[in-house]
This record gives sequence, structure tokens and C-alpha cells, in this order.
Amino acid sequence: NRQFSMLILFLGISVNAIAQQKSIEQRVDSLLKLMTLQEKIGQLNQYSGRQVTGPESKVKTDLRSDIKNGWVGSMLNVKGVKDTREIQELAMESRLKIPLLFSLDVIHGYQTTFPIPLAEAASWDLEAIRLSAHIAAKESAAAGIHWTFAPMVDISRDPRWGRVMEGAGEDTYLGSLIASARVKGFQGEKLGNTDAVMACAKHFAAYGASIAGRDYNAVDLSDHQLWETYLPPFKAAVDAGVATFMNSFNTLNGIPATGNQYLQRDILKGKWNYKGFVVSDWGSIGEMVTWGYARDNAEAAEKAINAGSDMDMESRAYKNYLHRLIKENKVSESVVDDAVRRILYKKFELGLFDNPYKFSDLKREAKVLSDVSHKNIARDVAKKSIVLLKNESALLPLAKGKTKLALIGPLVKSKRDHKGSWIVNTDTVQVVSLYEGISNKLGKKAEIKYAQGCSITGNSQEGFEEAVNYAKQSDVVIMALGESWDMSGEAKSKTNIHLNGEQEALFNAVKATGKPVVVILMAGRPLIFNDIAAKADAILYAWWLGDEAGNAIADVLFGDYNPSGKLPVTFPRHEGQIPLSYNYYNTGRPIKNPKYITYKSAYIDSPNTPAFAFGHGLSFTNFEYKDLVLSKDKLNSGESVKVEFTLVNNGKYAGEEVVQLYLKDEVASVVRPMKELKDFTKVYLQSGESKKINFVINKEKLSFYNNQLEWGAEPGDFLVMIGTASDDIKLQSRFTLLEGNVSDR
Ligand code: BGC
Repeated sequence: NRQFSMLILFLGISVNAIAQQKSIEQRVDSLLKLMTLQEKIGQLNQYSGRQVTGPESKVKTDLRSDIKNGWVGSMLNVKGVKDTREIQELAMESRLKIPLLFSLDVIHGYQTTFPIPLAEAASWDLEAIRLSAHIAAKESAAAGIHWTFAPMVDISRDPRWGRVMEGAGEDTYLGSLIASARVKGFQGEKLGNTDAVMACAKHFAAYGASIAGRDYNAVDLSDHQLWETYLPPFKAAVDAGVATFMNSFNTLNGIPATGNQYLQRDILKGKWNYKGFVVSDWGSIGEMVTWGYARDNAEAAEKAINAGSDMDMESRAYKNYLHRLIKENKVSESVVDDAVRRILYKKFELGLFDNPYKFSDLKREAKVLSDVSHKNIARDVAKKSIVLLKNESALLPLAKGKTKLALIGPLVKSKRDHKGSWIVNTDTVQVVSLYEGISNKLGKKAEIKYAQGCSITGNSQEGFEEAVNYAKQSDVVIMALGESWDMSGEAKSKTNIHLNGEQEALFNAVKATGKPVVVILMAGRPLIFNDIAAKADAILYAWWLGDEAGNAIADVLFGDYNPSGKLPVTFPRHEGQIPLSYNYYNTGRPIKNPKYITYKSAYIDSPNTPAFAFGHGLSFTNFEYKDLVLSKDKLNSGESVKVEFTLVNNGKYAGEEVVQLYLKDEVASVVRPMKELKDFTKVYLQSGESKKINFVINKEKLSFYNNQLEWGAEPGDFLVMIGTASDDIKLQSRFTLLEGNVSDR
């Protein structure tokens, strides 16, 4: 008897083990065999669920029954354990009980709002960026979310485009590393962990290059630029294991990204062998009709699925037409099967088939969302994101002792603006304003006077007098100027990116008192503020820093944190210079060449140079760069060059420096940029400390896409530049590559 029960136990264990050993592929295949065509198409639909729960739920009863029928694969905009669970329960009433995926735009935080992505990019601190994404994942996963529509990895060199705030700036190398850090942050150690969500690399592709910076506009781009500038961050996301992709609203050379076979089939799923799935952008399948690329939604559905868009976000084109398109042989069922497989695979990977309520734990939600340690993490990345643009006669840091401060400007007491666009938690009680941050820091020591001075957009100067009076009575003036939260973001393109309203006039009036003035600029994009740039004593660019903004800025103002941020985008002097980036090309008529006196490549009404260059950002301390040595000056095939130099902190404060390595390929078969960022590292040094810094330049770093779109390095001379900013190179040297190579990348 005992033997018998042992046998049963043994069998039980082995059957279980075998069942578990079944690979996800096998489980997907078995499930697919059970599915009707309608159920398959169901998996390809994603709907917004704002009204599926709550008081308006009746208007969406059709959607509720669609879910019960198994005709919905994913929901967006439903959040919280209670609501997601309620809807998942509907899916569990369906014939095959295929769980729904809950998705949301968790762009820079869920409960805790972190700095906007562009701000975080200014930290050049990949670990801080990873951690910020990870906390956002942890909080959203605890609240029932499986999938975030982030990171946005679109490179953009156009600050008129409101969505620059969502990306990592203008540079492909930095952008690729940040893409990878964010994907790893969101997805944690592995998908299926309850502190991880699926990430989504968006918007595939070239959305950031829309003509004239107007959102949703057409994109006309050479293949060369596409491959060299815009695609690498997406490839980096693939390499980091990103679970999903989102396509894009724009056309690329005449073909909407959503219906673009070249992008989605040839490059993403072909050349890159990507196994995740692609979701359309909101209604972007239907928008192909408006573009004039499809006659109607049916044709749009046909073009989108054949081009490799697996899931339809809110166009309802797959739901309404795919069935018919298959019957008419316009779409093959195997194309649908492939899309369904990709989606089911992710649902298995998340563990939802084993437990559809895996992310529905009310206790965990309450615990994680009230975890106060997240605030410290938000403050840490916020202070690292601040860029010290200017610090005349070392005005900053300010002394914490008894001082009379005048805080002036429309953003001094603001809370909502620090959260920026794309937030989940709309509450503002936990946001620390600048006023509060400074008061927290100084306690009763300081005498603080506050005047708003003017509003952000209005044209009244009525408040100037009060502001000027307070300035006169103060030792130091701190001004907070910039954009309100709704001025950058989706559909927030601008032709004029100067500081709005009377803000610069207010600055001039205050500055005229002769008092030292620190200006803190808060915005979602690079702004233009030439008077301030010329006359302010100190300038901090504080973007939109999230919940801990005020504390983080006060940390920098009063020297508890020595700023280390560097601009991830170029700041133009004038909109007419846009697009402007550090990695421009030389011309045949360079401005510095004395041969060309009149007919040179220059504006007659403005310098060519930006107001502040990519990579610029000061510290309270002073870093000296010296003793550059290259391990060789001639390079054979397969070799690399070691670059070594010494960094010295010879200033008064401990601090971090982002040392930047740029390369220039002097002569090539395709004209190369004047410089390209190829490496960097963030180094912490005590006052008086010095350290040897090493970089390795391998062939990969020397490679580019030639005219045939082959990736490789060409023989010839290379200039190595090491600097503290793209326009402040401290050390340089040259080496020669003796043999080139070409590879397929
Ligand atoms: C945006 C996407 C976003 C989606 C869902 C679209 O309008 O372009 O970035 O993920 O909406 O909210």
C-alpha cells in the first residue's frame, strides 16, 4: 500500500514536472489550436478602459460583453488592483479564459512622480535612471499594471516638438544607453516578477524627426540618417530584451510607420529577429485613412497587419475587418497566428495563465504605494538631473546662514508644474514646491519674501513693483521662471520657445536692482532666454523634476549636492537655428576659415553657436584634465586603442564630473560629423583627489554606415577629444586606423 501511494506521488510529481517543462512555445501552440478565428482576432484588440468600470460603465456594456466573449486582448488606462481585477474577472468568464494585459503610460512614475525623462537624461547616470524606471515599475505592477508604454526612445533635435520631454535628447549614443537602462529598470530581473512590467520601445520610428517639429507630422529622412541616428536606441532596447514595441503616428518617406513593412517586418522582425509584439499607437491604424494611405479602415487594417502591427490600439479596424480580410484572402491566417502567438507568449511569460490575478494583491498595492523610500530615490535622481548652466563669481552655493532671500516668479510656489506631462498620480499634496524646499532647508534662519511678479503667459507687469521692492531688500534673489506643465508634451509643439509672457522682462527689472540673481528655469524642453543667459549671476536648469523638485533644487542651491548634470540637448539662441545639434557637419565654408570672409556658412543676424551646448553643465568645484596618453597611434585590424588621462578635482568641493569622449573621423567615404559622443563616465572625486580615467576605442566606436548602408570602420585618421562639454574639449590627440572592415549590423 505504501509502495502504491509512493508510486502515485511519484507519478503526480513527474506529470507536474513535465507540464511545467512544457515550453511557453508549446503552451502557446496548444492554446492557438483551440482558438476560433474570432478569438484569435480578439487578442489583437486593445481598448481604453476609462469607462469600463465606475459610474459610466454602462456606456461601455458592449465592451464588457466583448471581454466576456474573448474578443479583447488588452486594456489601457485601467489601473489599480480593484478595477483591473474586476475587468480580469470578465475575461475569466470567456470560453478560453485568456487573461487580459493591462497597460498604461507609466512614463516617469506611477504613485511617485520622478523627473521627466529628458531631465533624467541630464543626469547621465544610468544607474539612477534604471532605478527610477524600476520604482515606477514596482509601483505600477503593484497596482495591477502589466505593461507600460515606455520608454520613448525617439531621438529629437527639435525643441519645438513638445515630446522632447519624453525622450533622452538628441544624441544616439547617450540615447541608446538610456533606452537600455530604462528597459532594464521597467522589466526588472525578469518578466513575471511582481515588481516588473513589460516595457515598450516607442515610437517606431523616427517620430522625433517630424517636419518643423510639428507633432504627428510627416518625416522625410535619408536611410543613412534613419540607420545612424534614429534606429540605434530601438536596437539597444531590443538587445536589452524589451517586451514590446509601439509604432508611430508619422509617415516615414511617405509610408505611415504603422503600415510600414520595411520598419516592422524587414528591420524589426527580420534583421533584428525581434520576438516581442508591436502595438499600434492610439488610433494610428485608422489614421492611415486620413493620411491618404488607405481608402478605408478595412484597407488600413490590411496594410497594418501585413506590415507587422500586431495589436490595434483603439482603431477597431482589426476587430471590424480582419475576419473579412482573411475570408477575402487579403490577409493570411498565418499572419494573424503569428501576431496572436507573440501576444500570448508575453501573457505566459508574465505568468498570467497560471494566475490571472498575480498582480492583483490589494495588500501589496497598499504597501508599495505608500513606501516612503521611493521619495528619497526621486529626490536623488532629481538633484542629479539639475544642470548648472552658469555660476558667475561662484555665487552658488548660497550660504545657509542668516540671509535675506527674495523668491520671485510665477513658479516659486507651483506644485503641479513640477510633475510635467504624462503623470499617473494627479495629486499635488506630496509635491514639494521650490518655496517649501527652500523653507525646509533653511528653517527659521532665513528671512524669505515672496512675490509672483507676473504670470507665465499673461502680459501684465503689475506685479513688477512688489517684486523689485523685495529684491531691493534682499541679499540674494532667486527667481523661478519657465513653462507650465501643459506647455510641453504630446501635441504641444511651439514655433516660439522663448520664455513666455513677461518673465524675461521681470528678470530684467529685478536684475536692474543690482542684487545677485539666481534664475531657476523649469520646463519640459530647452527654452530660449538670451537676456537671462547674458545677465543672470547663476542659472540652474531644473526641467520638471517631479514630487521632490523643491527639495532637490534646494539641495543644489545651498550646496548639499554639487550639481553634476549635463545637457542632453542643445539649447539654441534662436528658433531659426533649429534643428541644431552638437554633431553637425562641417561645410566647405567653415566660419573659422579666414579664406571666406563674406560667403561663409553663417547667419548674418546670429552666431552659429548655440546658447548652451550639448554636454554642458558646471560644477561648484573645478576639474582639471591632463596627461592624455593613447596606447598606440597606429591601429591594425582587430586592435583597439586605450585612452588614458588624469582627472583632478582642484576645487573646493567634492563632486562628480561627466567626462566625455568624442571622436571625429577626419576623412571618410561619407562626410562625418564634427564630433560624436562615443563614451563617457561619471566620476566622483573628493576635493584635491585625482584619478586615472580609461576608455577603450574599438572598431565598433569607429564604425558608421557607408553609402551602401554597410556598417564598418574605414582606414584613416581619427581625432580623439576628451572634454567637459561638447564645446569645451580639454584634451585631444590623433591615431590612424590602418585597415578598415565592413560588417552587417
Ligand atoms: C501616444 C503614445 C501613448 C498612447 C497611449 C498616444 O497618443 O502617442 O505615446 O502611449 O497615446 O496613451
